[in-house]
Parts: sequence; C-alpha cells; structure tokens
Amino acid sequence: MGLVVQKYGGSSVADAEGIKRVAKRIVEAKKNGHQVVVVVSAMGDTTDELIDLAEKVSPMPSGREFDMLLTAGERISMALLAMAIKNLGHSAQSFTGSQAGVITDSVHNKARIIDVTPGRIRTALDEGNIAIVAGFQGVSQDKKDITTLGRGGSDTTAVALAAALDAEVCEIYTDVDGVFTADPRVVKKAKKIDWIAFEDMLELAASGSKVLLHRCVEYARRYNIPIHVRSSFSGLQGTWVSSEPPVQKTQQQGDQKVEQAIISGVAHDTSEAKITVVGVPDKPGEAAVIFRAVADAEINIDMIVQNVSAASTGLTDISFTLPKTEGRKAIDALEKAKAGIGFESLRYDDQIGKISLVGAGMKTNPGVTAGFFEALSDAGVNIELISTSEIRISVVTRADDVNEAVRAVHTAFGLDSDSDEAVVYGGTGR
Ligand code: ADP
Ligand code: ASP
Ligand code: MG
Repeated sequence: MGLVVQKYGGSSVADAEGIKRVAKRIVEAKKNGHQVVVVVSAMGDTTDELIDLAEKVSPMPSGREFDMLLTAGERISMALLAMAIKNLGHSAQSFTGSQAGVITDSVHNKARIIDVTPGRIRTALDEGNIAIVAGFQGVSQDKKDITTLGRGGSDTTAVALAAALDAEVCEIYTDVDGVFTADPRVVKKAKKIDWIAFEDMLELAASGSKVLLHRCVEYARRYNIPIHVRSSFSGLQGTWVSSEPPVQKTQQQGDQKVEQAIISGVAHDTSEAKITVVGVPDKPGEAAVIFRAVADAEINIDMIVQNVSAASTGLTDISFTLPKTEGRKAIDALEKAKAGIGFESLRYDDQIGKISLVGAGMKTNPGVTAGFFEALSDAGVNIELISTSEIRISVVTRADDVNEAVRAVHTAFGLDSDSDEAVVYGGTGR
C-alpha cells in the first residue's frame, strides 16, 4: 500500500461535525494500510469572511499582510482536524505550508510553487503519523514571507505534495460527486464524468469550473499525477483525471479503453470584468503599450477584441477581460500610461459572464461551433466577445444571461442526464 494525498475543501470541513466526519474517513485510509497526507482548506466560507473583514479595515491592503491574514483560515482547520484524528486514537501532526516545505515565488495573493521540500512530512509519516498540511499557502524563497496561491489554491498544494512525495494518487474531496458536464448548482441534469483527460480538464478549469483549479491540473499533467475528484459526503467513485483512459472490462469485447467524449462539458465564469479602451489611435505599437502597462501591474488578462477602426476617425476600441479582483489595479495602470497611449477614455463593466464549451471532439466536428451559437441564439442570449482554442469555444454575455445560456447549451449538445439529478451535498456556492 502506497502513499495517498487527500485534500478536503472548505465545504467538507465547514463545522465541527464536518471535521469529525472527515477525520473518520482519513483514519479509514490509514487503517487500510496507506501512508496518508491530508491537505485541508479553511472551514466553510472563512476565507471570504476574512477578505470582507480586511476590506472593512483597508480598501487596498498590502499583499504581505493580506496573505498573513488569509493563511490563518487553514491554520484553524488543520489543527482541529489533527485533534479530531487523535480523538479517534490515531496520531496526527499538522503543518503550515512553510513547515511542509512549500516554497513559492514572492507574488503575494497568487504565488506560484517553485519547489517542495517535504522533509518534515516524510519524518512525520515515517514515525507513523498522519500528516495534515494547511493548503493554499507557502513561503517565499527570497524574502521568507508567507504567501498564498490564489483562491482555490489548496488543490495545487495537494498535487504539488503528491508529486514531491511520489504519491499513488491525489484525491480531491469536495461537495459534489466528481466533475460533471456542467456545474450541478446550475444544471440539475448535469452528468458525472467517469474519466476526463488532463487537456479537457485544463480547459474546463481555465474556463471557470472551480471544482479543480487550473494550476493544480497543470501541475498534475506535468508530473503525471492521477487525480480522483470525489465527494467527502458519499462513498461513491468520483471522476478520474489522468493522461490515459482507464481500461474497463466489457462482456462482449473484453478489456476496452474508456472512450473520450466528443464534448466534455460546459463551464461558466462570472468572476471576470471587461475593460474597454475607447478611442485608441489605429497605428502600430498601440496594443503593445496598452498590454505592457497591464502586464507590468502583474495582471493576467483573458480575452481581447479590437473593433475595426472607422476610417474617418482613425481610432479604434480595444476590449479585454480580466479577473474582477484586478479591475481597480488595471484601471490605475492604464490611467497612468494614458499620455503614452493616447486613448480617449476607459469603460469598466463587471456585469459580464463567460460560457465555454469544451471537448477534444471539436477538432474533428465542424458543426460544434455553429451548434453552440444556435443554442445561444435560441435562448435569446446576446454575444459580446468570442474566443476559441483547439478544443474550446467561449463567449462573453451579460452576467444575468449566464445560467440560462449554460442550460441551453448543455441541452443542445445532448449532455442532459436522463436518469438522476446531480447532488450538491454542501457548500454555499460562494
Ligand atoms: P471545495 O470547497 O471542495 O474546494 P469548490 O467550491 O472549490 O469546493 O468546488 C466545488 C464546486 O465546484 C461545486 O460545489 C460546484 O458548484 C462547482 N463546479 C463548477 N463546475 C463544476 C463541474 N463541472 N463539476 C462539478 N462541480 C463544479
Ligand atoms: N481557502 C482558500 C479559498 O477559499 C483556498 C482553498 O479553499 O482552496 O480560496
Ligand atoms: Mg476549491
């Protein structure tokens, strides 16, 4: 029996009962002969509550202090979980990200893991303990400051530890039974996916399916760590995310590889905003100056569209999307660079949503894009921006239209389950 890493999200440890329930599950894995490393998130909506608290004290807190504050959430859950396990007669030790050897760069609020040196975790395991690690946090290599990995970052902690410890599997326990063809909170008829390739999962995660974080899937693909996403509330098999399809036994044909679906699912995201730079001179180099200003502020952008310049004015508008949380910073950076760019004004719109259809089958099925637009049109949804990759097509719409649009596309592509409704066991969806 090998080593397993289990990650429990906030909804799985939302209260004392949740912590005790999860402790029992962890002890079961240990009793089955595994070495167990647990990564835990902050209880329930603690991280959101800490963010609200910080906003009441300061509108733009320093990244260092903000990270110090947010990491407190995971400290609470890790210590309580270790206590609950000890109460069941098993030994457990909790560790902060820094103690567990999670080394990051120094970009506060969205640090990247650059190394994992889990010496203390190995020792704890060798001494027969269950090791509990605070998710979502690390320590910066240069300044030795405490950092956080961005919202949902405990998923990345789990996969990074699984890679560093050469784990058999990384289990991500959450409040739904696995990865579904759409968010079960929006589409009751969403279907659980048994297996999904890293590539499709990467696109779903990047498009807003927060069941797994994009960086965590990237990490898992790079180190080839299979992920099993499942519910901490039910005993059901969840979704396997890996490079190769698993082999299934069939009665007629013997062993068969599970087939990859043409369409994996529909993702949506309402966490982005749109900035339009109005009246940009239509000459070479303008886009470069605009996006350099945004990049220098360490802001990642998503979609970009430039509309055709009206010949009479020689001016054009450039719109792009970015996380709402970066909106203020981007506007400030562009205002500062205004003299060098020479635009007329900036427009900020945070009432947008993005809907994406993901599937490797798009490469070979020309009708997919048309079907996607027809479904949106039938639902009366207006499209503002479009972007595509080889296996994804995304549109930006009004935020109010998103849920309706997701359901329409899900139905149009035959993804609705004809048997049971997807179960959401906990969480507030915040
Ligand atoms: P945790 O607290 O366990 O990290 P998250 O809230 O981050 O949980 O992620 C689980 C949630 O992701 C689900 O409750 C669900 O609402 C949402 N979700 C979005 N898209 C999907 C999808 N395609 N499949 C499953 N869950 C999804
Ligand atoms: N507690 C952090 C958050 O809410 C990290 C995580 O849950 O993965 O974003
Ligand atoms: Mg999460």
